[in-house]
This record gives sequence, C-alpha cells and structure tokens, in this order.
Amino acid sequence: MSISFHCEGYMKKRITLRFQRSSIDKPIVYRLAKDFDLVYNILRANVSPRAESMMVLEVEGSEGEFEKGIAYLQGIGVGIEPIDQDISKNEERCVHCGICASVCASQALDIERETMRVRFDYEKCVACELCVKVCPVKAMQVCFT
Ligand code: SF4
Ligand code: SF4
Repeated sequence: MSISFHCEGYMKKRITLRFQRSSIDKPIVYRLAKDFDLVYNILRANVSPRAESMMVLEVEGSEGEFEKGIAYLQGIGVGIEPIDQDISKNEERCVHCGICASVCASQALDIERETMRVRFDYEKCVACELCVKVCPVKAMQVCFT
C-alpha cells in the first residue's frame, strides 16, 4: 500500500504507527533518525507484548526522506495512518468546564490550577477527537488539512 502525504520540500507530519509483537524487537523509530535523517517526537505510545501496539509520532524532514522512511516502516509490516485532521479550541465559546481535560489522555488539555482555566497545547494533541465529542458548547473543533 502506498500513502501519499501531498507535501513538497521540507515537511512535518503526525502519523499513527500500528505494529505487532514481532516488530517490537526492531529499533523501529530509531531507524527513522539514523537512516533517513528524520526528526521525530513520540506523542503517544501504547506498546504491548501480547496485542497490537500503537505509537503516534510527529515526524519532520525532507519530503524524499520522509517517503523513504514510511516505505521502510511499511516494508517491515508497520501499519501507517496519516493524521489529517487538526484540533482547535474556540476560546470565545469555551466556558472552562474541564470536561475535555478529563478525557484527554495526552494532556493536551489541562486545567491551570491558579485560574481554573482550561489550556490547549496543540503540540501534545494526537487528534483522537474525544474532546470534540464531549464538549457541551462545541468549543473543540476538527478541521481537515
Ligand atoms: S469541554 Fe468545551 S467548554 Fe468545557 S473546558 Fe473543554 S473546550 Fe471548554
Ligand atoms: S483531540 Fe482532544 S482529547 Fe484528543 S488528544 Fe487532542 S486535545 Fe486531547
């Protein structure tokens, strides 16, 4: 399967990796940096020796090396899903009820204790959309890139 990310030149992209037990021993992510000169940031990981494991990465580098890195991962049986949606927070709508922060596993949404206001850190968001579903005033929104 080939995946097109429709980007040119230098790029930064969030992707989800899904892999089986047999791939755990392989230095999957390390190879992206060493062999393809890609910079990565692990946003979320759930690695299990028994079931399918998953990892959400933000990867940046040249388009050519990015494509080669993805091809390498697919070649060793890692499933790749691009994250094509962005989450944003509408500050005018938000009433800081905190519901979204209670469901956000990546802690992209958290409550500032001093002010009791809910802050959104885009860099930590893995676009799971749970906050979008629970927000009573629809302040958390999805936009497709
Ligand atoms: S659930 Fe909605 S209204 Fe409540 S804090 Fe989160 S974004 Fe704001
Ligand atoms: S989509 Fe919402 S709940 Fe999911 S990681 Fe991003 S901010 Fe947190």
